[in-house]
Amino acid sequence: MTSTSPAATSATPAPAARPRRHRPAAGPIPDFDVVIIGAGSAGLSAALVLGRCLRRVLVCDGGAPRNAPSPAVQGFFTRDGTKPAQLLKLGLHELERYATVEVRTARVTAIVRQGKQFELTAEGETGRSRTFTARKILLATGVEDELPPLDGMRELWGTGVLHCPYCHGWEVRDQPLAVYGQGKTATGLALLVSRWSRDVVVCTDGPGNLTTNARRRLRQQGIQVREEPITRLEAGPKDSVRVVFETGEPLARRAVFLHAHQHQRTNLAELAGCRLTSKGAVWVDKNTQTSQPGIYAAGDTTPGTQQAILAAAQGAQAAVHLNEQLTREECPK
Ligand SMILES: Cc1cc2nc3c(=O)[nH]c(=O)nc-3n(C[C@H](O)[C@H](O)[C@H](O)COP(=O)(O)OP(=O)(O)OC[C@H]3O[C@@H](n4cnc5c(N)ncnc54)[C@H](O)[C@@H]3O)c2cc1C
Repeated sequence: MTSTSPAATSATPAPAARPRRHRPAAGPIPDFDVVIIGAGSAGLSAALVLGRCLRRVLVCDGGAPRNAPSPAVQGFFTRDGTKPAQLLKLGLHELERYATVEVRTARVTAIVRQGKQFELTAEGETGRSRTFTARKILLATGVEDELPPLDGMRELWGTGVLHCPYCHGWEVRDQPLAVYGQGKTATGLALLVSRWSRDVVVCTDGPGNLTTNARRRLRQQGIQVREEPITRLEAGPKDSVRVVFETGEPLARRAVFLHAHQHQRTNLAELAGCRLTSKGAVWVDKNTQTSQPGIYAAGDTTPGTQQAILAAAQGAQAAVHLNEQLTREECPK
């Protein structure tokens, strides 16, 4: 991702030649109306809507999206099967016509409230830090998955080890599958995955912590349970995965599903004093605003179902709320 100069990417007149639009009520004019942190589905979608509102927007992104290890984004209306990098490339390309939107490869490291605006520090690719001021901030920074420390898990993540049957169940339908995990989480996931395959084995990697009722429900659906400790996962022939146990026969599967724990990709929300839910998501109100006025959040960062198209929708929703709040501030009663 390269930084784009508004003048270089559009034939629209320079800002000075444009008719005067709404202005912030008073005080110094910040560099941007909104700084969006994160250029995944949520951030790029928000930037598009804000660009179309002629808002001065800076999008900063400092890394790969969550689904980078995956060969394709599935279930995204009109883009089913597109490579993750290609989806974002299309999003960035669309932004080029909006002269008021700037995109930078930079990791935001600090947000400081200064009266009615914010000062952000962002570290670019060369390691040089710059500061920007903004009236509002949108956190679209996503989450990071915490994989169990099992050999082969990280290497197969996104290809043989899958996080979600809604995203990848169809690709492995009617093939032998496994679910890795224990207790209620593994039971729920295994019952869900059994929609896509009649051959599902739960691998608990030691005691499964399964209640009698859970075992009965799994049995009813023909789902087996293997509780032997696992040594490693290996890539097998023809895109298969081998679950290698400490004792007993290895298990060949097309894929292993796993409900991984996750944490916020950055601690910016916490540093800025935003409230987190008990599960570690950034709490937002119905207008996508966090507990800190002026700081909004969208996408996987926030509570709820995590899918690229939902993140994009939340980004668009946040953009509308941001523009309406800015407009209210510019047009006081
Ligand atoms: C392996 C895998 C496969 C998946 N497959 C699918 C699928 O097929 N279909 C589907 O709908 N969903 C899929 N998902 C879920 C999907 O990836 C997420 O729901 C989606 O990426 C969320 O978008 P987002 O914009 O909220 O976050 P992300 O896409 O994670 O984007 C967040 C961005 O913020 C940047 N960032 C973070 N901190 C900073 C900072 N401090 N400064 C600057 N930038 C920062 C990150 O580098 C990243 O680019 C998959 C997930 C995984 C793990």
